Amino acid sequence: MEKPTNRRAFFKDCLVTVAAVSVGQLALNRVAYAVELPHVDESSPQAVGLGYKHDAALVDKTKFARFQEGQTCRNCQLYSGAADTEWGPCALFPGQSVNAKGWCSAYVKKAG
Ligand code: SF4
Repeated sequence: MEKPTNRRAFFKDCLVTVAAVSVGQLALNRVAYAVELPHVDESSPQAVGLGYKHDAALVDKTKFARFQEGQTCRNCQLYSGAADTEWGPCALFPGQSVNAKGWCSAYVKKAG
């Protein structure tokens, strides 16, 4: 009778270990991904065309009149950075990161 109990305990320990390693690896991947992405170049044609600025306070409000105070990449639907990071991915700039305090004319208010 003791063997099944030991086997159950062994498999339970294995599952807990695998789950802990997986969660840890996911966290590390997210940090590494965010760190590795190069920042969008504000002078690139795409960034200039969209009026992207790393700091929303520097947006040319005469050229991009739809800008409203409080709009930033962090609360944009297309931003997927973590809540506590300064830079994060944006769907419009694949393979690069935008500043959470930035803005561009494609801004879409995050739902919810
Ligand atoms: S689409 Fe949104 S997240 Fe991307 S640069 Fe523009 S404002 Fe920022």
